[in-house]
Amino acid sequence: MREMRESAREYLEGKRRDPERYNIDGIVRDAWVNGNGSDEVWKAAVEKHHIRFMVGDWARITVEVEDGFTEHHYGPIENFRRPDGNFYRRNVARPYAAFLHPEYTRSHVVPLSELVAEIEDFEIVTEWSQVHEGGPQHNYGVYQCIGRHGSYPPPATVMAVHKVSGRRKRFCDDCNTSEQRAGLAHEALMYQRNAKQAILELRADPTLITGPASTDTWDKSPAEQYREWADVFPWLVPRPAAELYAQWKEARSAAAAA
Ligand SMILES: [Zn+2]
Repeated sequence: MREMRESAREYLEGKRRDPERYNIDGIVRDAWVNGNGSDEVWKAAVEKHHIRFMVGDWARITVEVEDGFTEHHYGPIENFRRPDGNFYRRNVARPYAAFLHPEYTRSHVVPLSELVAEIEDFEIVTEWSQVHEGGPQHNYGVYQCIGRHGSYPPPATVMAVHKVSGRRKRFCDDCNTSEQRAGLAHEALMYQRNAKQAILELRADPTLITGPASTDTWDKSPAEQYREWADVFPWLVPRPAAELYAQWKEARSAAAAA
C-alpha cells in the first residue's frame, strides 16, 4: 500500500499536479485495489479524487442583493460545514459547504457545488509582448508590477484580466496571488455599486441612452452622460439599453459614411 501511495504521488508530480490536492488513498483504492490499474481507470480515479477546495483557498460566491442585483464576492475558505451549517468533527473527503467571510459582505455558508475557484474568474496572460503591449515609453515600454512593492517594483510578468469586466492589472509572479486578483474584481464591484442609480434608470427606460445630444456645447444632455458612462463601463449596461446603444452607434456611423 505504501509503495502504491508513493507511485501515485510520483505520477501526479510528473504531471505537474500537487499531490496535496488529491486523496491519494482514494486513488490507490479505486485504481489498483478495486480497479485493474489501466490508464483509463487510473485517470478516472485521479479526477474523482481531486480536492477542488481546501481551507485557505480563495473562492467566489454570488450574492443576491436588493433591486435584483447580484454581486460577486471573494475570500479565503475559513472552514467547511455540514448541510446543517455546523462544523465537521473530523476531516471529511467530501465536505458539503464552505464558510467564507468576504471583505465587502456578511459571512456566508455556501455549498461547494455553488462555489467558484477564484482563478476561474480571471484570464492570466503570460506572453511578454501581450503583457507589455502599449507599455509606457518612459520605461522602455515595460509595465511595472503594481502589487506590493516599495519604490522599485520589478517588471510585470503577467496580466490578470477580470473576465466579467475586462479590467486588467499587471503583476510580477510573486504578486499574482488570489488576494491581488480579488482586488481587481472588488474594484469592479465598487463601480457596480456606484453605478446603481444609472443601471436602475436604464433598466426602467432603455431609450434614455439614445436620447438627443445637448445643443449647448458647455452642457451635456442626460443621454450623452449615459453614453459616456456606457463607454467606460460597458459591462454594467443593462442588456436592452446596450443593444439600443449599439444600434444607435451603427446608425450614426452609417449616417456619417453616407
Ligand atoms: Zn510584484
